[in-house]
Amino acid sequence: MRKPVIFGNWKMNKTNAEAKAFFEGVKGKLHDGADFGIGAPFTSLWTAVEHADCIVAAQNVHFEASGAYTGEISIEMLQELKVNWVILGHSERRAYYNETDETVNKKVKAVLAAGMTPIVCVGETLEQFEAGETKAVVQNSVAKSLEGVSAKEMASLVIAYEPVWAIGTGKNATKEIAQATCKLVREQVEAMVGAEAAQKVRIQYGGSVKPDNIAQYLAEPDIDGALIGGASLKAESFIEIANAIK
Ligand code: 13P
Repeated sequence: MRKPVIFGNWKMNKTNAEAKAFFEGVKGKLHDGADFGIGAPFTSLWTAVEHADCIVAAQNVHFEASGAYTGEISIEMLQELKVNWVILGHSERRAYYNETDETVNKKVKAVLAAGMTPIVCVGETLEQFEAGETKAVVQNSVAKSLEGVSAKEMASLVIAYEPVWAIGTGKNATKEIAQATCKLVREQVEAMVGAEAAQKVRIQYGGSVKPDNIAQYLAEPDIDGALIGGASLKAESFIEIANAIK
């Protein structure tokens, strides 16, 4: 039985003060039925760790240990703050910051080697969806982003299927589409490292998840959680999401 994994991704939102207020609002209001977490901006991570009673994740990290990489953040810097989870390869990073399956793969390997947990994002664009390319795009992205990852490591990480056309649009994927693609992801993992790890890896759906639609996704056999943008920004809404899957 896979434990649900529900993460908010704040993207470029929330100052330290706002982060503190959020975590104070959420404190004691989540439950043990899922692993809950928030992907906070770098500047709010320490405040988040101090005040959160859920997991705190970064939204990116560099694959090199240190060096001349202006503007970047290393794994050691995150670990010093007790941040052990990191969202990698979000479609916004792929679209706007030149993130590729190859750079995601380097980051995944570095994060796993450090004993941390990555949430690895994949998903097709609207154009690819309409051209019927979802299967090929998603399987290829899983294969490349997770190339060289061992069965044991695979079992420990999280993959987020986020169709780009559903992100921030209010047009969430139907549960049938989300389930079908999450199943494809699991099949790809099985082809790479075997059935045991494929049964253990947790796969999230992301894209316009809200308190009133989350339960239908978690009822699907291959969807083990959600990665939530807009609806994770308000404490009340995040609590409602938690309550919807109690
Ligand atoms: P929305 O929930 O705002 O659609 O964002 C989804 C997302 O990109 C989470 O990473």
